[in-house]
Amino acid sequence: MPPTRTRTAVLVIGLLLCASLAGGARTPLEYIQDVQMAEGSAGAKEDPLLASTIFPLYDKLTAENIVPSLMNLFKELQKDIDELEASAPATWADLVDPYERLNDRLNLPWGIVTHLEGVKNSDALRAAMDQLNPLQVAVSQRLGQSSPLYQAFKLIRNNSTGLTEAQQRVLDGVIISAKLSGVDLEVAVPEGEDKGKARLQATNRFNDITQQLSTLSNNFSNNALDATAAFKLLITDKKDLDGLPGSFLAQAAQRASNATAENGPWLITLDAPTYTSVMSYADNRTLREEVYRAYISRASSGAADNTPVIEQMMALRQEQAHLAGYSNAAEYFMANKMATPQTAMDLIEQLREASYNTAAKELKDLRQFAASQNYTETLMNWDIAYWAQKQQQALFNLTDEDVRPYLPLPRVLEGLFALAKRLFNATVEAADGEVPVWDPSVRFFRLYRNGELKAHFYLDSFARPGEKSAGAWQSSMVGQSALLAAPGEKLRMPVAVLVTNQSPPVGDKPSLMTMYEVVTLFHEFGHGLQHMLTSETDVLVSGIAGIEQDAVEQPSQFLERWAHEKPVLLSFARHYQTNESMPDDLVNKVEATRNYRSGTDTLRQLFYALIDLKIHSKYNPQPGVFLHQTDLYKDVIAKTTVMAPLPEDRFLCTFTHIFSGGYASGYYGYKWAQVMSIDGFSAFQEVGMDNADAIAKEGLKYRDTILSLGGARAPALVFQDFRGRPASTTPILRDENLLQTDSGSVQTQSLVSAAISQRAN
Ligand SMILES: [Zn+2]
Repeated sequence: MPPTRTRTAVLVIGLLLCASLAGGARTPLEYIQDVQMAEGSAGAKEDPLLASTIFPLYDKLTAENIVPSLMNLFKELQKDIDELEASAPATWADLVDPYERLNDRLNLPWGIVTHLEGVKNSDALRAAMDQLNPLQVAVSQRLGQSSPLYQAFKLIRNNSTGLTEAQQRVLDGVIISAKLSGVDLEVAVPEGEDKGKARLQATNRFNDITQQLSTLSNNFSNNALDATAAFKLLITDKKDLDGLPGSFLAQAAQRASNATAENGPWLITLDAPTYTSVMSYADNRTLREEVYRAYISRASSGAADNTPVIEQMMALRQEQAHLAGYSNAAEYFMANKMATPQTAMDLIEQLREASYNTAAKELKDLRQFAASQNYTETLMNWDIAYWAQKQQQALFNLTDEDVRPYLPLPRVLEGLFALAKRLFNATVEAADGEVPVWDPSVRFFRLYRNGELKAHFYLDSFARPGEKSAGAWQSSMVGQSALLAAPGEKLRMPVAVLVTNQSPPVGDKPSLMTMYEVVTLFHEFGHGLQHMLTSETDVLVSGIAGIEQDAVEQPSQFLERWAHEKPVLLSFARHYQTNESMPDDLVNKVEATRNYRSGTDTLRQLFYALIDLKIHSKYNPQPGVFLHQTDLYKDVIAKTTVMAPLPEDRFLCTFTHIFSGGYASGYYGYKWAQVMSIDGFSAFQEVGMDNADAIAKEGLKYRDTILSLGGARAPALVFQDFRGRPASTTPILRDENLLQTDSGSVQTQSLVSAAISQRAN
């Protein structure tokens, strides 16, 4: 997986239809029959899942009671969908309202159990999910691909007068999702042939492709995993591991059998932490080269070869795009995004021009640095991380261990909540113990807006190996909705879940964080604020729901940036024992490292983004010619790398983001959203970070636009509402020291405003 600096993957548990494109191996009808067969054994005992309110009964949920509960629910929903389809009334109250209720009855309990799968996994739960997953997909597909509902939605969209902007966006979202799942195919009817028959054939082919792609995408990720796991290099001479830290030796010895950290043997593998350590610290250049070559050629030969998988996937994706009426796969994947293939490529080109020379200079500097350390050979691909680590150490002399004592979790939370108060007049109050939680370490909070209760959130901070997934994410567990309010109430309040994976407290010692972990926490809280501070009352566009994928990282990356703002950092960075502030020179070093090799880092992200867009818009597989041999690939390499990959580099064979991770034609979205995030942040810099009144005013404006309007308004318009103009690349380039290059100042322009009217329908 390509590294993304300081960005954690967003995992927004689907409130919408988007999660259901991948199909299982059986038809929906067969699943319903399965449910009916299973009904006898379901039993009608206690059902804590359906008895759950917006605060689930986590203390009572078990794999055993979840299965019958959901089986019954799925069956009921199928029946209710049948009824809705049979009448398909084309009015908001008779169609959209019941549709939203149906969706929520499916998504809320499903969100709860998939959440448990991520944070409290067990063999029993995994087995339950294996049983439930295909059934959920079937119901979800029924809802998302229903032709009668699709036609009725279109009628309301086209014929109703007086729809609000939010209502239009609700309908546009539902309609485009259905179109992308194949409900309205472009069918060419040959002379003399029956139209119905041609349509049925096209639909069958489309569904067949969906299933094949689902299998291939699964194979892709398994091959990537298997190929990574297959490499094992046993080191018996400790000298070969010179330079690597003691903790690495301990882990490498643990992986080998009958070994000790001191005497070995040590086992080197290709998992990301091991690979990164070897490349950054191993003095042994031959070892680095061997590990590097193995890493870049993973999954490109033998049993776990992804080469044919990519070719098949690309051919099927193009065919599916054509069936759905799009000229290529990029157009298809971006039909529900903010950017078009062209505007995304324009942005990439702009950032590329701005970062290329800086990246080239950074490489030159690195060569000079290596030479200054008496290194006489040519710098090769496997030398870069190693010398960069040494250069960074020489420049900043900063390690995680230096900052940890100043970043205890309780203080960081205080600082984060104080920032929310200062910027958005949002107050956080602990409410631990008021509701059941899934683990005793999980905390529970209330969030107030202008002093009024607005939302709730859970915070699950600590790693629990074996039951909790790695990484960090925000789940939009319960969406704000007027329609779905409890009887007697006006509104259902939002509930968010924030999950991170830092080390737990030991004894009296609190969890001490790295700067990366602090930034991650700010990031997830940014998603949470957008979910919780929403002013929208339709669940399909409130909070994060209904926001285009390439705009969704905007508030998270915005808040992330504040963690690096010196006064903010100083407001909470205090020693956990002495309460002393983080020393000035340490703060300065933290700030200085933020932009270390920013040109190289930007260019690498652009390389991934560009190859992703190019292959989905221009590549048509030819028998016997693999992607890496095409001019298209070579052209991207020439434009976006200052040190070319080795000829045998096959990174595409492990590019899981785009072949199994939902980011096909979407990798650019990280940068696209970041441009808006940093432009948003620059509005605060412009009014003066010391000007408390002006900052508070900007903060409220940000809250009432970007954090409030959710998916109810096109993101480009929302941005304009806040900033008074379209997003510009100037702030991000300035922030990353990329504005000036050797050739002088870089031309910048706005994120192409065509995106504003680009909402497909
Ligand atoms: Zn995120």
